[in-house]
Amino acid sequence: MDSAEYERKIAHRFAAFDQDGNGYIDRADFNAAAARLLTEFGTTARCDKGQALYTGAEAFWQGMAGIADVDGDQRVTREEFVGGAVKRLRDNPGRFAEIARPFLRAAIAVADGGNGGRAAVADVERALRVLGAGAEIASIAAQSLDTDRDGLVAESDVVAAFAVYFTVIEPDA
Ligand code: CA
Ligand code: CA
Repeated sequence: MDSAEYERKIAHRFAAFDQDGNGYIDRADFNAAAARLLTEFGTTARCDKGQALYTGAEAFWQGMAGIADVDGDQRVTREEFVGGAVKRLRDNPGRFAEIARPFLRAAIAVADGGNGGRAAVADVERALRVLGAGAEIASIAAQSLDTDRDGLVAESDVVAAFAVYFTVIEPDA
């Protein structure tokens, strides 16, 4: 792919993390993501699921900062994101997955309508939309996460897909 296409894909991924759109990723973005998910699924921050989501968001932020916040100012700029979260983890998506896993597990629990730790495809689509994905992309992504086509999305599928999305920038990704 050419450099313009690469830059566009990086910009989409950065924007996914920069939930408040102020040009850098910081703790507030992760807290905003947690808050949006709780609101969408009618869950309070005080309950066990809400607490787990905020704890996971904080762990995700700490992991992201540890990898990408090179100058230690508690903000990850687009340059730091490209150099750290994308480039440095490209050969090791598993590390990114482990950083994200507690948040993703908690998010599935919030969206789980009694499906035993899995989320319905339609609920995954809702979660992606409330986090800023366009309607069409959210629909396609949610369906692709249901690898065995039983209408439910498991934690392992979400974690694996998430790591690939943010660390492997392919022409068709
Ligand atoms: Ca931000
Ligand atoms: Ca920084």
